Amino acid sequence: MVHKAVILGTGPAGYTAAIYLARANMKPIVIEGPEPGGQLTLTTEVENFPGFPEGIMGPELMASMRKQAERFGAEFKRGWVTSVDFGKPPYKITVEGIGEIESESIIISTGASAKLLGIPGEKENIGRGVSTCATCDGFFFRGKKVIIIGGGDSAMEEANFLTKFAEEVRVVHRRHELRASKIMQERAKANEKISWSLNKTPVEVLAKENKVTGLKVKDNETGTEEVIETDGIFVAIGHKPNTDFLAGKIETDETGYIIVKPGTSETNVPGVFASGDVQDHKYRQAITAAGSGCMAALDCERFLEGSASHDWSQSL
Ligand code: NAP
Repeated sequence: MVHKAVILGTGPAGYTAAIYLARANMKPIVIEGPEPGGQLTLTTEVENFPGFPEGIMGPELMASMRKQAERFGAEFKRGWVTSVDFGKPPYKITVEGIGEIESESIIISTGASAKLLGIPGEKENIGRGVSTCATCDGFFFRGKKVIIIGGGDSAMEEANFLTKFAEEVRVVHRRHELRASKIMQERAKANEKISWSLNKTPVEVLAKENKVTGLKVKDNETGTEEVIETDGIFVAIGHKPNTDFLAGKIETDETGYIIVKPGTSETNVPGVFASGDVQDHKYRQAITAAGSGCMAALDCERFLEGSASHDWSQSL
């Protein structure tokens, strides 16, 4: 059976695309990967998603979006996409445990994963003081001490952002030189609330009673270890788009992010669309991902109907 539309990934982008396509009667099949709900299921309270004045827990928000898509007839299948064939339509997707799925169109919303250090205490304390998103969690550290790990633009930007809340922000970076652009470095260095621990490798996240208390670091020159006391640790060592399974079948930039035609969700393959963090290394917010999922669904619907000049405002 050839489906009309298959959506890969179930973060805010995939769920939103599913809601729109299901409401348009396109009967989308949604493939849920190993982390259903995406990055938001790793956070605790989400306070900046419009419509929830009291905030909402990340997993709850994702579960509600899934329910909403199901209500309109989206069909969910759990599995790991191992390969795709975009040679000619219908396109083929191979899903471990399910087999081959054929579809006239595909929306890729497989997201990006924040890179982690892989040190003891890190993963188990996500949501208990360890975070990979300053925009999401900075607010919880009002008047507290936080550490940001990394020396790139993200680390500098997030360090500056965190000074709005935290009393002290310490940047821990594994080299003496920062990777960040000059302007971002200068901005961070001019900020009196930011202090620096350079040429130090993070070794272990320390926690007590489910709360982060410190970061053990090793000096790369002397080899001596010390504990920096802190209330929170923000890991900002980059993101990796989840595009390995595409293996060169679609145009990406050198870091693996899918390239879309500006202002659309169109990839270089007709009928294959991308939305959410898999094509966005800049904004990376639940709300922007959801918005781009909506764009992908509308672009996809237009593709399936073969009408390039549809007025969307008339059909919603
Ligand atoms: P990035 O440029 O790749 O920087 C990652 C940083 O993390 C580097 O300093 C790196 O150290 C460090 N790191 C990586 N793995 C590590 C590990 N295992 N242990 C300790 N440290 C580790 O990533 P990014 O800062 O997220 O930026 C990604 C892209 O987005 C860049 O092109 C950036 O310019 C862009 N961006 C731009 C803006 C802006 O202009 N406003 C803001 C954010 C991001 P080394 O330096 O030693 O490799």
